[in-house]
Order: sequence, then C-alpha cells, then structure tokens
Amino acid sequence: MNAATKAMAILQKIQQDISENKDISDKLEHTMSLIAQGFDVDACACYITVDDTYLELFCKFGFEDEYKTNIRYGETIIGEIAAQRHSVFCNNSAERFKSVIGSPMLRWNKAAGVILIADKNERHFTDEEMSMLETIAMFLTTFFATEEINAYKKKLIKSRGLNLKDRLKGVVLNKGFGVGCAVVHRRRQALIKIFAEDKSLELARLEDAKVRMNKKLDEKFNSTRLGLGEHTDILETYRMFAKDKGWYKKISDNIESGLTAEAAVERAYEDMWNRLSSGSDSYLRERLLDLRDVADRLLMFLSGNDNADKSYNGDIIVVAQTMGPADLMDYDYKKIRGLIIEEGTPTMHVAIVAKALNIPVIAKIRGIFKDVKDDELLAIDGQEGYVYINPTDDIKEKFKSKQKDMAIVLEQLEKLKKYANKTSDGVKIKLNINIGLDFDMDYLESTRCDGIGLYRTEIPFMSSDKMPDVDKQISFYKKLIDRAGNKSVIFRSLDVGSDKLLPYWNNMNEDNPAIGWRSIRITLDRRAILRKQMKAFLRASAGKELRVMFPMIASLDEFLEAKETLMLEYEKEKRKNQAVPKSVKVGLMIEVPSVVFQLDEILKHADFISVGTNDLAQFIFACDRGNPRITDRYDVLSAPFLRVLREIVKKADKAGVSCSVCGEMASNPIEAMVLIGLGYRQLSVAGSAYSNIKQMIRSLNVQDISDYVQILLKSPKRTLRPQLLSYAFDHAIAI
Ligand code: PEP
Ligand code: MG
Repeated sequence: MNAATKAMAILQKIQQDISENKDISDKLEHTMSLIAQGFDVDACACYITVDDTYLELFCKFGFEDEYKTNIRYGETIIGEIAAQRHSVFCNNSAERFKSVIGSPMLRWNKAAGVILIADKNERHFTDEEMSMLETIAMFLTTFFATEEINAYKKKLIKSRGLNLKDRLKGVVLNKGFGVGCAVVHRRRQALIKIFAEDKSLELARLEDAKVRMNKKLDEKFNSTRLGLGEHTDILETYRMFAKDKGWYKKISDNIESGLTAEAAVERAYEDMWNRLSSGSDSYLRERLLDLRDVADRLLMFLSGNDNADKSYNGDIIVVAQTMGPADLMDYDYKKIRGLIIEEGTPTMHVAIVAKALNIPVIAKIRGIFKDVKDDELLAIDGQEGYVYINPTDDIKEKFKSKQKDMAIVLEQLEKLKKYANKTSDGVKIKLNINIGLDFDMDYLESTRCDGIGLYRTEIPFMSSDKMPDVDKQISFYKKLIDRAGNKSVIFRSLDVGSDKLLPYWNNMNEDNPAIGWRSIRITLDRRAILRKQMKAFLRASAGKELRVMFPMIASLDEFLEAKETLMLEYEKEKRKNQAVPKSVKVGLMIEVPSVVFQLDEILKHADFISVGTNDLAQFIFACDRGNPRITDRYDVLSAPFLRVLREIVKKADKAGVSCSVCGEMASNPIEAMVLIGLGYRQLSVAGSAYSNIKQMIRSLNVQDISDYVQILLKSPKRTLRPQLLSYAFDHAIAI
C-alpha cells in the first residue's frame, strides 16, 4: 500500500465516523483517535490558526497538557510548523512523547492549522508517513472549513474569552466612509472533494481543463489587449508553466494515486512548494508564485467557473490580499465604495490610484481576506480605520450621518476655493496637483490648483495595449496641456519598473526590483524610448513652456545624459523646422540618497527639483515601500528623514532653484505642515487631498511651526507624530 492508499484507508474510517457521530466535539475527538490508530501512535492533536499570529488547540487525543491551548507563531514545534508552512519531524520534543511529526493544514497558501501525531517511544517516522499526514492535513483543512465546524470553532474561541468582533481595526490609507457588498478579489477555488471514484474521468477532466486553459491563454496573449486583473505581463510565464509536461505528469500521478483532479493540482503545488520554498533563491520563490497563479487558473477551469463576469449592480467594497493598480481598474470604479487590502501599505500604487478615485482604503486587517465572503455587507470607516462586517442598522445610521458630516466638510472646502493658498501669517504656498489617470484631470477645475507638479506619464503607458508611439503620446500630453490652460505642467519621463509594470513588457524577474533596472535606468539604456518620449513632449508643448522632470536620478552624470537627450531632440526639431516650445525647463526628482550628496553640483544644471518622498524614504531607511511588515517600523516624521528634507530645501534655496515635494507626504496634512516648517513653499498633492491641505495651510503660522520643527529635529524619538499631532491640536491647525 502506498502513502495515498494508506491515508485513504484512514480517511474512509473518519468519513464513516463523521456521518455516524452526531456531537461535534465527539466527532473531532474520535477523528483524532482514528488518525492516531491509523499511524499506530499514542496521540494526535489539531491546532487552528486565529488571526494569522497564533494557534488555538482545537481537538486532541492522547495528549494531556504537553502543549498549551494557545501558541504563538514560531513558538514550539507547532508554531514553527504554522510559521514555516512546512512539515517537521522531531525526536525528544516533549518529555512524555519522544517522537513527533506535524504538518501544516494549508489553505490559500497560509496555515489554517497544524496537525500533530506523537508517540511515547522513540521511533523513526518515515517520509511515507509524513506524506500520509500531509494528505490527511489536506482533508482536515476542507473538513474544518465546513459551516458546522466553523460555527463550532467560533463558539470554542469565544468560550476561551477571545474577542472575535464584527468590527475590525485596520490602518487608514485613504479617508472616507463607504457601505457596499463585498467583492473578494481572488481567483482561487476551495477544495471540495479530495478522493475520486473514477480515475479515468479525473484524467479526462484534467486534460480538458488544460486544453481550454491554454487555448484561452494563447488567445489572451495574442490579442494584445490589456487584460485587467489577468495581467498580460505574466502571460508568457503562465504559458511556460501552463504547458509544462513535468507538472502535468505530477498531477496525473496524483490522480492515479486516488485524488480528484483538483486535489491532485493542490498536491503537486504543495510538493513543489515544500521542495523550493525553503531556499533563499528569490528567483525560485518568484517561480513558485507564478506556479501558484497557474494552479489557481487551472482549478478555475476544472470548476467550469472560468468566465467570471466582473460587473456588479450595486455599490461594492473590494477586498483583496494584495493588488496592483491595474487590478483596481478591473472593476467599475464608480461603484467602488471602499477598498480593503490586507497587505496594503500607504505608498503602494493601488492605494495612490484609489486616493485619486476618492475611494476610502483600509489596510492591514489580518485574516479579513479569508473571512469576508462575497456579497456580505461591509461598512468602511476610513476615519477611524474600522471595517464592519454585516453592520447593524445602528451602524448604518451612524454611517449615514457621517456621510452627511463629510458632505458638510466638502461644502466648507468648496467655499475655500475662492481664498488664496496662504498661511495665517501671509506666506504664499504654491499648491500643485499630481496627475496620472484621466479622471485626475477633473481636479484641475474643481481645486483651482496652481499647476501640475507631477504628471506620471507611465500611467497612460500602463493602461495602453502596446507601447504608445509618438503620435499616441502626443495625444495624451496634449489632452492634459489643453485641460491645464495657463497652469504649468511638469511631465515626468517614463518611470516604470519595480511595482509599475507595463503589460506588454516581460516581467524582468529581478532579485531587488526597487533598486533594479527601473525608471531612468531603463530609458537611458533603451534610449529610443526616451528620445521618442522627449519628441512627443516637445511637439505637444509647441509654442508653450515645457517642463520635463527625470525620475530616480542617482548621479549628476545621469541627469546630464537625460537632459542632453532632451536637448538633442529639441535641436533636431528645430532643424526640421518643427514648432518647438517657447521655453524648456529641465528638472529631476530627488528620490535616491546619493544625489543629496551631490546636490550643489546638480543644482547648477537643474531648473527645478521635486522630492519623491515615497522612494526617498524607502532608500533612506532601506525599507521596501510595498512591504507591510515594515511600514510601521520607520516614520518619515522622524529626525533622520526630516534632516535630509531640510538639507535639500536649504541647498535649493541657496542655489535659487525651485524646490517642491510631490511624494505622498505632501498629501497628508500633518506631514505637509512639517514640510512647510522645514522651509518648503511648493507642494504637489493628490487632487483628492487638495482641499484638506489647503485648509491646513490657511490655519498654519509658518514662524511658529518652523521654530517647533527646529526643536524636533534634535529629538531621538522613532516617530515625532504624537508631538506633531498635539502641536496641531493646541494651535488649532486643521489636519
Ligand atoms: C515618489 O517616489 O515619491 C514619487 C512621487 O514617485 P512614485 O510614487 O510615482 O514612485
Ligand atoms: Mg518614485
């Protein structure tokens, strides 16, 4: 008998027992004893994961109090298995039990729990026994996800005094209130059936799904349309995996051992995960993510659910584990009342896009992605950072009144329009807006901003089917120039790479994309792209002033090269008797720390600079802007970062070069207040944040805040946020 057959024999007994036994706790205990018997060991136990950080003892047989009822991730062999998502052998683990093995119960790639078997005698568990335990863990994951067991689980957790609330706390990434039905952004399917009655039928189902999936992928790949939510940039890798003979052989072997096609796909993936994920090779880890995507897609075709329609009738709240900016545009944004991103960080681009769309965003609610179900009513309080699942009538009423309050605030802000952007002591602050998507342009009129401080030209590139040619680019740029009228526009050259991928370019699969081949590094190396973009800027701005800004510049040399490319195109245009702009101003973004140390020289060649605090902060703190685990670790409102910012503005002022901040920092009132205190007199903010920033500016006294910021710059504290909030409160600053 092989491992799968032996596991099946145990599971058959369990299934029979489940249908006979009525009481759940009896069922669970008996399940544990059957597993122990099946392995001929003394004890068996299951722990379940609660909020992704710790585990609760769920059911046991043979154990007394060898292990605690709740165990943190990483604690003991059990916490270790959950944290690492790997099966573990252990000899001499607990005193009474000499030999123990455990396996994670994997669901959506996370440990939903841990199963453990133990023997009082020293014995050598075999790989085959481990494989049996893994198959059983797979079954238990599905069994524990049934409604009956789920209800019991909740009751049990409650009875142990734990607070599972319908109000969940997260971190606000964009303010606002919204109520709508949940739309869970995922493609994965739950495993319903593990063992098959008819092997040949399963093999035929696999073949059919494989053929249909590959046909669809080929169609998608050949039509260059940007498949929102199904990114064409990973299609090539998909195609490679989707046709991989070795992988199908493994799936078929699993079917031959008795599994359904779906369970066989999961098993093949888990085997691969177990083999490859422990290494530190990020290339392999990336490949695993690709394979996970293909596995999900195959499961979708197996379930016949491969034509999911993404149109909805009413208001929706999108719940995602993580998301790219294009994914959001997959939904009808007019219907999105909120976005919940489990692993979101403030500077991830989807949050920036959501901000531009005025969609409240809440992040970092552990487990929400797997707990919320499609169509469940959700309410988002993007003021306090709460998400309500199935809100009561009281809460709905409260939300209505909050929405009314917001409307009043908006009305007040509307009135602000006619006032100048001046502080209470009369200092003029130039307030520009950032533009990426078309609808950002609406803010040009509604805010009456001074100008456009950052036009992210990569956004129209990202939403095009193919690399836009010069004429197409001219049409994008002219549209903005026409809408902007007399307002100045700063065009940033193509800033792609890292988390901004072009759907028609292959993913570069670099180890460290944020510090890899991105942005100006790409366009200087692929000079034709830069030249074409410069030509389009020049032609679109004929007869007007053109301002071009280069991103991610790391040295004077790079800036001069980029500037020269623009000026050569300018000369070429003149030679061809093409109409040229009446003046050309060239600047750069301050995003890479090295340029701060070469700023005096750079400023001699630049007409303006703009600080990209999103990238600058990630490089100053060596802290990935997209990694939720470390977002809270460092704060831009702390002495090291503020000192860098002060240095930049001081040098620019001394050189008489215009200096602005266009990173997200400028769009948050408390941060913008500090920037003004540091000496910045120009900010470029998200259109949706404009009025709040303006209100803050009008209530701020520059002299006072500058004095206070000077004192804070000496503070050793990790974050100065609390002091600054109290300052704002004490000085009645509208933040
Ligand atoms: C920045 O890095 O602060 C910035 C404005 O650029 P982006 O967010 O587009 O990388
Ligand atoms: Mg940047």
